[in-house]
Amino acid sequence: MPHSAPPSALPKAATDPALLDLLKRIWGYEAFLPNQAEAVEALMTGRDSLTILPTGGGKSICYQLPALAKPGMAIVISPLLALMKDQVDSLVANGVAAASLNSSMTSDEKRRVVDDLRAGRLKLLYLSPERLASPDSFELLSQAAISFIAIDEAHCVSQWGHEFRPDYRNLAQLRTWFPNVSMHAFTATATQTVRDDIVAALGLKEASVVVGSFDRPNLFYRAEFRRDLVPQVRAVLDRHPGEAGILYCIRRADVESLCETLQGLGYRALPYHAGLPAETRRQHQEAFSKEEVDLMVATVAFGMGIDRSNVRFVIHTGMPKSIENYQQEAGRAGRDRLAAECVLLYGAADPVSWKSIQGEPKTPYDQHALDKIREMYRFCRTLTCRHRFLVTYFGEAFEATPCGACDVCLGEHQVLPDSTVVAQKILSCVVRVQERFGARHVAEVLKGSKTAKLLQLGHDKLSTYGLLADHAIADLSDWIDQLVGHGYLVRAGEYQVLKVTPEGRALLKGEDSVQLTMPRATVAKTVKSSEDLPLSPAEEALFQDLRGWRRTMAQERGVPPYLVLGDATLRELASRRPASDLALRAIKGIGETKARDLGDRLLEALRQGAEANGLELGGDAPLMTVAKPAPKASAPRANPTRETAFEAFGQGRTVAEVSEQTGRAASTIEGYLLEYLQEERVTSPEPWVDRETYEQVLSKANELAAERLKPIFEALGGSVSYGAIRIALAVRANQG
Ligand code: ADP
Ligand code: ZN
Repeated sequence: MPHSAPPSALPKAATDPALLDLLKRIWGYEAFLPNQAEAVEALMTGRDSLTILPTGGGKSICYQLPALAKPGMAIVISPLLALMKDQVDSLVANGVAAASLNSSMTSDEKRRVVDDLRAGRLKLLYLSPERLASPDSFELLSQAAISFIAIDEAHCVSQWGHEFRPDYRNLAQLRTWFPNVSMHAFTATATQTVRDDIVAALGLKEASVVVGSFDRPNLFYRAEFRRDLVPQVRAVLDRHPGEAGILYCIRRADVESLCETLQGLGYRALPYHAGLPAETRRQHQEAFSKEEVDLMVATVAFGMGIDRSNVRFVIHTGMPKSIENYQQEAGRAGRDRLAAECVLLYGAADPVSWKSIQGEPKTPYDQHALDKIREMYRFCRTLTCRHRFLVTYFGEAFEATPCGACDVCLGEHQVLPDSTVVAQKILSCVVRVQERFGARHVAEVLKGSKTAKLLQLGHDKLSTYGLLADHAIADLSDWIDQLVGHGYLVRAGEYQVLKVTPEGRALLKGEDSVQLTMPRATVAKTVKSSEDLPLSPAEEALFQDLRGWRRTMAQERGVPPYLVLGDATLRELASRRPASDLALRAIKGIGETKARDLGDRLLEALRQGAEANGLELGGDAPLMTVAKPAPKASAPRANPTRETAFEAFGQGRTVAEVSEQTGRAASTIEGYLLEYLQEERVTSPEPWVDRETYEQVLSKANELAAERLKPIFEALGGSVSYGAIRIALAVRANQG
């Protein structure tokens, strides 16, 4: 049995050196994200818990870390094979003894896992709820010392949730089997009903509940009226060249047609919806996850199980049916916590379509669904901060306005001056034509057009004729749509004639006011989140090169690229450009196993990429500022290769010689040499660069007053390598 930690109310985990050491060594992270320490604390003390963090909030580490820190093996329940596989692959890539048991495995593979389990070699075992239901499960699991049970995507247990899975109901069984093992549920679903359901269905006892903020500060929310779908979609795509995005459509037919249109325009896009054969769906999902294709045009059937973390934008081509749906679908962007954009294109007809799909409300539940549609449309139309709108919808307070990451706060919508007066003119025109005409005709009357129909009807004699003649017909139609959306007007019958609602009558009487927005094409701004390192254009190019390198690594290893290294890590690499193993380990997201596994080739890729883009290695961050608390459990390890290299440099060996001696890439050794020159304050360039070359470089460097390598390289006509220039400058730095 695991030893029991002393009870405590404080999240000691946040400063626990042993936990922090694991976080750094295994995952390459320096600190916990908000609420992670609280969640970890519950698992460490063995108290049942429910942790609710948004997508991208870092839930996995909350159970993976305690699984490593505690004796025994943790059981993790996860609903989908794909999710399970990703997590296990990612743990194994970080050097963790994790495995799963599932139906897709051969009996040999299964036997190996069972052997490992019996021998106590596993730290985490992933199981599907179906697997758990099989008769031998209890017998099997009883052979391991179980540290705790973690249940991922725990909302699947609730019928109120949107992803109910009957199999999840079996999980309560675990309680009976292992009454003394603590259970920990994790979900991103915020509603209270679902929370209560989880606690009840799993039988959590005196559970500690950890709830994080539901705001996703790295998502930029924007809602646009749908005028002309394809150009509006392209405007978004063109803001994100080479980046991944999901385009959600309401109907399958829309998926097909939009996807074909985009392919015809030269975009690399694939369709995904429930009407496609299972094999096609699998292939398309895989192509997306392997970064072979960046655009997925899909219905909401493309949902759970998309783990690609670097989705940079989500476009809704129609309004979803509830804020909950929107939050979830848009939330698939930016799981890596870097900036991502969510664009919602909506039309006044969208709520109408949803209502007709819903049908006449018969039960209170149906009524509830209609309220949700209305609320969703309010979100589309709101002129208040969208981050605030979303978090307050989920019952959370929001202080940071302007948020800096929504179209409203960035002033992309302009309110029409005298909105209420304009609205009253439109409504009174609808009344004048006796509520028997559609929007087009009403707009013509207000504009003062002379169409044959209008003249024939004598509508040019109406008091509202030409009342808004200064505005374009398109604008007038848009405001009519807006009034429909706000519920002041409805479209009725086969001919969609406009009628004034009771709310509209109140507005006409001046008992209400309204804000209409100017239907102008906005220049969408792109905004970076606080987690995005700002990159220069050359660094951005290097980042793209590194993505290409990552794809190759992923192919070799048979895993998706986002499991090799995340985008946040690649951006930091492009910005800091570490030149040595030591500097590499200081990068967020690179733990010991990855440093060992990828180190040499990554340093080589960085060296080549930097050179190709005219960048120096070493970047702005000095290599030696890797300050970290020295944890008692494992002192910072000596790096034997580096020590050997230093010794060899002291004996006057060249980079090529040391590279051969140690079997490390020349780029790695060159990185050590630069560190050596700096640390030992070496003042002579020999034997690494001959005197003549050294003088040449220095004179050019002085002449150009340049610190960057590229101008020097070019001024020398390419006759001296970047490596030699770097060495010469490192030596010069020791002279002053
Ligand atoms: P969730 O399951 O809650 O959606 P993940 O576990 O996938 O979230 O984590 C989201 C992202 O945050 C991942 O890219 C992960 O690597 C990163 N992350 C998790 N914990 C930390 C941490 N302590 N420091 C920095 N990044 C972290
Ligand atoms: Zn805002």
